Amino acid sequence: SQAMRSIGGQFQPTSSVELRNQLRAEFGREFEVIATQNFLVVQPKGRGNRWPKMFEQCHRSFVTYMERRGVKVRQGRFPMVAVVLPDARAMYDEIARLGIDVSRVAGLYANKCNRVMTHDGGAISMIAATVRHEAAHQSAFNCGVHSRVNDTPSWVTEGIGQMFEPDAMSSGRSGTRLVERVNTDSVRQLRDTIDMDDPNEVARWVDRMIRSDDLFRNPTTIHTAYALAWSMMFYLAERDTEAFADVLNFTATRPPFETYRSGQRMIDFERVVGTDVRDFSNQLTRFVASLP
Ligand SMILES: [Zn+2]
Repeated sequence: SQAMRSIGGQFQPTSSVELRNQLRAEFGREFEVIATQNFLVVQPKGRGNRWPKMFEQCHRSFVTYMERRGVKVRQGRFPMVAVVLPDARAMYDEIARLGIDVSRVAGLYANKCNRVMTHDGGAISMIAATVRHEAAHQSAFNCGVHSRVNDTPSWVTEGIGQMFEPDAMSSGRSGTRLVERVNTDSVRQLRDTIDMDDPNEVARWVDRMIRSDDLFRNPTTIHTAYALAWSMMFYLAERDTEAFADVLNFTATRPPFETYRSGQRMIDFERVVGTDVRDFSNQLTRFVASLP
């Protein structure tokens, strides 16, 4: 659509065959391009099926998870691109070439070119959680769970990214025990930095998170921001599925190219979630306390 083309002027979907040829030309003879149902995976030659399987599995688990909770999901019209570089160094070079600000060392999702990128230079267990996080962003933007033409609050997008870090969430076992769905790093981060026994303190953080994305921009609060975003989305997903779906369906369909002001973000939150910040924070506090 026009809207897709005009945002940043960067992401221009093309046909699968065209895209595959472009990727071959772009990455050269040392790489292969493997097509799966939903992906074109660029990887160093001879790395087998491990990465293509992992990306496909992440995406399918994401779609199933969302559909079961009433989140509107549409089939992507274009293959998603995942790029596996041979090692961390090659990944940094590629990131620099594309002019992207990097926040995570094990992988990233570049919205403007709709690519997930990672590298194959270490133990997969070390980078898998990050890859699952970034793959969830890609799935969300390609399935219309997030819009490409309006601003979705970061607590919603990053909450989703964090939710899909645990292995069980991205391997089709999300229906298993709650303990396997919990992002344990986020729980630890919350307990280390916020006094979770003090509902007033929790409410102050939640209030700020709903009104603005600034907690994600400040190096002293960024880790807590991710953890809090996770807890807010995970709480809704686990305890108020209807509100979880409403938040995603609402933010995905807001009018395009409109600045999302802080006051409006708060009004929308209280209306869509159906509770005020204080009550929500109290419930969230109890929920986090109940987690392992
Ligand atoms: Zn993220």
